[in-house]
Amino acid sequence: MKARIEELRENLAKVEEQIQGALRLASRNREEVTLVVVTKTYPVEDLLALYELGVRNFGENRDQEGSLKAPQLPSDTHWHFQGQIQSRKIPSLVQWADSIHSLDSLEHAAKFEKLPNSEKLNYFVQINLEEGADHRGGVSVNEVGSFLESCTLPITGAMVVAPLGSDPVVAFSKVKKIADEHGLKEISMGMSGDFEAALVAGATHIRVGSSILGSRSLLA
Ligand SMILES: *Cc1c(COP(=O)(O)O)cnc(C)c1O
Repeated sequence: MKARIEELRENLAKVEEQIQGALRLASRNREEVTLVVVTKTYPVEDLLALYELGVRNFGENRDQEGSLKAPQLPSDTHWHFQGQIQSRKIPSLVQWADSIHSLDSLEHAAKFEKLPNSEKLNYFVQINLEEGADHRGGVSVNEVGSFLESCTLPITGAMVVAPLGSDPVVAFSKVKKIADEHGLKEISMGMSGDFEAALVAGATHIRVGSSILGSRSLLA
């Protein structure tokens, strides 16, 4: 049986090759893009192996999981939270997360702001492209402006999950346009199935899980 680290090495190399290819198409530089490896549901041994392979940016969806894993890795790692934010978990999130990709509520923003050290985090506003349904969270497109105006936290980025069944190219260009309109320099978009389209559209952060770690047995 192949060692897990070899499997991860190969998967990472494949994803890296796809990243380079998409960036070449778009005449963009590799330094403009952060690959966040989404490690939700995977054991800390996998994260340590990924660290060995050079990964420094890890993504988690649950406070419970991230708060246990983050202290077990060396301190030169950057932790991204992209799950649904629960108000009571915010004090814990501030302890281990470096970037919050899924901010979509002014109440949550106010709660972050009251906590010491919350100014050290980077914040992305999550945009919801699904009209009517908002089960994946996010601020609807026509409310992004007022959200940013009222938000007292410094928001540097926009994040999106392309709606199921939508054309990701259309979704990602829309988000790129919104980000540009509001001067948001960072754009977190693209997952295993659509990160190349996201890179061509201008993503600065891609969040890739299953292409690197394998498919998850449980939905997280
Ligand atoms: C799980 C998850 C990812 C990674 O998804 P894959 O398809 O496994 O690459 C990215 N972003 C969010 C918000 C997620 O929940």
